[in-house]
Amino acid sequence: MRKIFIAGNWKMNLTKSEAIALASGLAAKSSSFGNVEVGVIPAFVHIDAVSAAVKGSPISVGAQDVYFEKNGAFTGEISTDMLVDLGVQYALVGHSERRHILKESDELLNKKVLALLARKELGALLCVGELLEERKAEKTFAVIEHQLKTGLAGVDASHVDRLVIAYEPVWAIGTGLTASPQQAQDAHAFTRATLAKMFNPDFANKIQIQYGGSVKASNAGELLSQPDVDGALVGGASLKVDEFVGIITAGAATKK
Ligand code: PEP
Repeated sequence: MRKIFIAGNWKMNLTKSEAIALASGLAAKSSSFGNVEVGVIPAFVHIDAVSAAVKGSPISVGAQDVYFEKNGAFTGEISTDMLVDLGVQYALVGHSERRHILKESDELLNKKVLALLARKELGALLCVGELLEERKAEKTFAVIEHQLKTGLAGVDASHVDRLVIAYEPVWAIGTGLTASPQQAQDAHAFTRATLAKMFNPDFANKIQIQYGGSVKASNAGELLSQPDVDGALVGGASLKVDEFVGIITAGAATKK
């Protein structure tokens, strides 16, 4: 059975002291997490301090991005070696803000996924999802399929334990709009079926597929109880201890 994995993407928010306070507040409540895997994804500059604040708790720490080159003249970028050195366990790839604001291509995202999976210490959390106009034009499944096929090109099926997919409809991110539980389930079932064809049925059965898009404590239970929804990638609601813990406890209550 797949475990539920709930990760908080803190984006470009919080001062260092605010990030430490949030991380410590979550760590203090980790006895209520049950069977749910919980992660926090702070800005690069806060990773060290946040890792220290959650040390000894079951909370994992991820990075919001990574660059695919090993080292060298890539001003402003962060390598997999640097992430490993910090004790980071995984990195987001292809968050909609990087796809659509920073214009990262599927080809670049694929290189990032492969660079992460090349390091046994690291995992990749690949985000996929359609724009509102694409949903209206009934292109949702085509967009997901394209992003999966390009993003995961060359990935070895044996790396399934270090790969997570987040289905994040772009129109639901930071907007207060949430996919209905049925819309989420349909997209997740399609994602799993596509992965079964791309890799194999065992890979598809094992992989965790998170939903992201305005998840809150009040809607998490319904979303997380869908059979193919294995967790949540949470933005805004992960910046408050009680709201984020509310999402986690809703996940724990689904008894997956
Ligand atoms: C996200 O950052 O991936 C996200 C889903 O944000 P929000 O929960 O704020 O919609």
